[in-house]
Amino acid sequence: DVNVGVLALQGGFIEHISHLHQCAKIISEKDDNPYCFKITEARTVSEIEILDGIIIPGGETTAMSILMGKNDQELLKALQRFAIAKPVLGTCAGLIMIANNIKGQMEMGQLKIGGIDVTVCRNAYGAQLQSFEAPLTITDCDVSDSRSTPMVFIRAPSIESIDSNKVQVLATYKNVPVAVRQNNLIGLSFHSELTDNLTWHMYFLKTVINEKFLVK
Ligand code: GLN
Repeated sequence: DVNVGVLALQGGFIEHISHLHQCAKIISEKDDNPYCFKITEARTVSEIEILDGIIIPGGETTAMSILMGKNDQELLKALQRFAIAKPVLGTCAGLIMIANNIKGQMEMGQLKIGGIDVTVCRNAYGAQLQSFEAPLTITDCDVSDSRSTPMVFIRAPSIESIDSNKVQVLATYKNVPVAVRQNNLIGLSFHSELTDNLTWHMYFLKTVINEKFLVK
């Protein structure tokens, strides 16, 4: 089995679940494919620990931080253990949660999972009313053969700087990185779940499969 979950404390997890189901169906329809996908919403430490990969969705990092801090930060600690070992896809607020450095408008004591050596700036792409859909340039051919995909930005964080040469840039918008990867962690400024395009969920599922089954 391949167990993939979406952290469902808060924010846009439903759309991620639906995109994962569509990708799992496409992969499973290939004849030679032996995988059985289980796609679940994860809200507790035990629901997180059984997963092979997790998506941290968009939403509000302030609210997520409060929920992860409950019971002596048990969820935060579980997610930090997870991120060291297994694939994580963070979109929008999820990217902020897995970034090592955060600039601007942080609440006092706001928690983060960390792991990707980038500096992000919250809400750098403007307010809710300035939300927009725009084509990205994909810079890593492992992500997709098509060079451009339209993606949605909603109060999106910018990636202000790449702070280590371990970080790979997967896509840019106006020459600024908007998708990055470090080891098992993939962070997107935008919402990969809000268009019909499955590029990023496919890429994530392939990463999960590779990490689980490929001999290293
Ligand atoms: N602005 C939000 C935050 O900083 C993220 C926005 C989003 O996920 N759409 O938490």
